[in-house]
Amino acid sequence: MSLYESARRHALWMLGALAVAILFVAVVERFFGHSSLAFGIAIIGLVAANRQMLSFNCPRCGKNVFFRGIFVVPWPNRVCGRCMLDLTDTSEK
Ligand SMILES: [Zn+2]
Repeated sequence: MSLYESARRHALWMLGALAVAILFVAVVERFFGHSSLAFGIAIIGLVAANRQMLSFNCPRCGKNVFFRGIFVVPWPNRVCGRCMLDLTDTSEK
């Protein structure tokens, strides 16, 4: 599997995790009223899930595939932004 492919899977997985987190907070608010605890749990869960994002780095120069300049985007780069390596063509990971 190419780096781009596994990074893309992670992005999709994060989208699912985000949906679950929103649903979780919505359900708690519906049944127990406003809860900052539920909100906190959802945020912590998302941050923990997203830590894996930092492991998707360009195999040649080490640049994270989710970073475009100083911005973090929820979708991985197809081509490395620094060394222009084609990330759809790597078999790392
Ligand atoms: Zn690179």
